[in-house]
Amino acid sequence: MSYQHILDGKKLDLPVGKVVCVGRNYAEHAKELNNPVPTSPILFMKPSTAVVALEPGFAIPQNQGECHHELEMSVLIGQPLKSADEAGAKKAVLGFGIGLDLTLRDLQNKLKEKSHPWEVAKAFDGANPLSGFVSTDRIADPEHTEIELTVNGAVRQKGNTSDMITPVYKLLAFMSRHFTLLPGDVVMTGTPAGVAALQVGDQLVLRLGDLPALSTVVR
Ligand code: ZN
Repeated sequence: MSYQHILDGKKLDLPVGKVVCVGRNYAEHAKELNNPVPTSPILFMKPSTAVVALEPGFAIPQNQGECHHELEMSVLIGQPLKSADEAGAKKAVLGFGIGLDLTLRDLQNKLKEKSHPWEVAKAFDGANPLSGFVSTDRIADPEHTEIELTVNGAVRQKGNTSDMITPVYKLLAFMSRHFTLLPGDVVMTGTPAGVAALQVGDQLVLRLGDLPALSTVVR
């Protein structure tokens, strides 16, 4: 499936770049996986080949153990960002959306036990289903925005971006000191508690703030 960035319903002439992610950015999620709450953001990346459209459906890997949903607010970068401060980070954002940081949890746990990198558990093809984005003026305050995921009608993940350990713009600034962010790159901002395994056929509804809910299915 091909994916192209969409902003306010229109296809954007922007490359789909890398995705920069943060681990354990909500304390309750760190606790549910028995991980310590980090003192500085834990960064990792997904390549452009991980990005697929969230709607109308997406696939999960088979026969590789549990594939967990991690519901996260996503940020689309519109201007190059390097060693930026928070004000610079704010200016570089083109839009906000929602996405899933799919994680092969059994595989990740095995890798963590061996102190090996996580990539194959996090960066596989299709590991980052993304919604379209909305322009920044449609999210009143991205640092105080509710996100919610229901699976087959039951609420699985519910959080507020105000609970992030490193808030959005501070996080972008931090990331930009390690990796230059380019137009078309995406930042995933971490997941609240409630991660769990997805099954083929699951019906998902994702909400970001007051925006219309998005529906999708696991294929
Ligand atoms: Zn995540």
